[in-house]
Amino acid sequence: MRHLSQAYIDGAFVPVQGSEVVDIINPATEGLIGTVTLGNRDDVRRAIDAAERAQPAFARTTKQERIDMLRHLQAAVLARTDEIREATIEEYGGPLSRSQWVSEYASQCFANAVKTLEAYDFTRQVGEATVVMEPVGVAALMTPWNSTAGSICSKLASAIAAGCACVVKPSELSPIQTQVIAQAIHDAGLPPGVVNIVIGRGADVGNEISIHPAIAKISFTGSTPTGKAILRAGAETMKRVSLALTGKSATIVLEDADLAKAIPLALSAGFLNNGQACIAGTRILVPRARLAEVVELVKTTVGGLKVGDPRDPATVIGPLVNQAQYDRIQHFIRAGLKEGATLVVGSEGRPEKLVRGYFVKPTVFINVRNDMQIAREEIFGPVLCLMAYEDEEEAVRIANDSAYGLQAYVFSSDLKRAQRVAARLEAGGVLINAIRPALTAPFGGFKQSGLGREYGVFGLEAFLEAKTIVSASAVAA
Ligand code: NAD
Repeated sequence: MRHLSQAYIDGAFVPVQGSEVVDIINPATEGLIGTVTLGNRDDVRRAIDAAERAQPAFARTTKQERIDMLRHLQAAVLARTDEIREATIEEYGGPLSRSQWVSEYASQCFANAVKTLEAYDFTRQVGEATVVMEPVGVAALMTPWNSTAGSICSKLASAIAAGCACVVKPSELSPIQTQVIAQAIHDAGLPPGVVNIVIGRGADVGNEISIHPAIAKISFTGSTPTGKAILRAGAETMKRVSLALTGKSATIVLEDADLAKAIPLALSAGFLNNGQACIAGTRILVPRARLAEVVELVKTTVGGLKVGDPRDPATVIGPLVNQAQYDRIQHFIRAGLKEGATLVVGSEGRPEKLVRGYFVKPTVFINVRNDMQIAREEIFGPVLCLMAYEDEEEAVRIANDSAYGLQAYVFSSDLKRAQRVAARLEAGGVLINAIRPALTAPFGGFKQSGLGREYGVFGLEAFLEAKTIVSASAVAA
């Protein structure tokens, strides 16, 4: 049983002044595993003050000094790989293989930032001007509960590479995962105040960050409504804001695809991270002529997926993160049925034999119209829509008929054709015949899935301002 009640401010773990105590529940067992005392506005103001004090000296560090800091961070996070994996399983319910990936990815973020920084020139010549890229100032990094270690580390790596002192505000639903990362950051021995971490509610700690004049930049990952609230609140102080938001991604299976391979991959893309993934391919578009074959493959593939104990290596889908998420998924399954969609597999309620834990049945709907709630809104659980199309034109039209545009997937045996379809999709990223992400290429969303890009050079530049200097050799007489 853990009782977490500290923030990380100015290089030290300090008791929070907030008084709200929240239970930490293991989602696979519904057992109480700890409590967390949430920080409040005063706590985050202290964190912002510390970052503000650290910023001038940190902005003057050389590229090599920041590379050294990133290497220290990489080593410190790498040393806690096992702890990150265990916390991700215990607190979040991430299946073993996914939790292992996340724990390795966390340290890899810093290694990727080192490579980006080594190759990056902060000064360039544009015509007669010298353009200097400078750190934007104190940055706030706000993260969701569905990828705590990965989101914190990838944002932090870019911010440190740029020379921005940070205030990290992770989700209030992931305090154990945050604690492990905070300890690793402390072990890395960065100058006090360069990284500060306060867990708290969005409505007070998150809002304080959004309105505080000393915060120059917000890098946010979370839902679209929250992203809009942050953008509005930050406008008054003209904050630079990057938003990585909600998705409702389409997977287009073209009629020449090898269905035996494509359908299991498409389902994996939909059920990624227990279905709680922004990039999940949740609208699977298949040619009407091959619908019957697809339905059979969906039944056999989903029937073979193990749902249950996230520690079991055979488990593909673990529990949802909490009761609220469980209830949300039940609501969407009922909504789908009410609107006239029908079930291929799954239904309301828990899978058989799982009497405890926030487990849901992997569910796939058919007879879905793209104007139904289940096709338009992000469900954020293992509930997918299977939709038939007549031809490529219709597939592209349905895929693009969404308020969101984070990711898309295309499956085809003709790569050139798949690339032509990819070029027409309104999405920040398109994966063809694969569900493997590119971790140094720009990542972000079209339309209401976001603003700006993360990762690699694009992620670094999101924390930089361009200054243009035009010089004459002498003052004209
Ligand atoms: P959320 O928007 O509820 O919360 C995200 C963060 O914002 C949390 O730290 C929360 O405390 C904070 N917050 C909440 N209200 C706030 C406010 N008014 N002002 C400032 N901060 C506030 O999202 P969530 O439920 O934690 O995460 C799930 C969502 O995140 C999904 O929509 C998912 O698609 C999205 N997501 C997107 C990406 C991406 O890269 N595009 C990645 C992961 C998750």
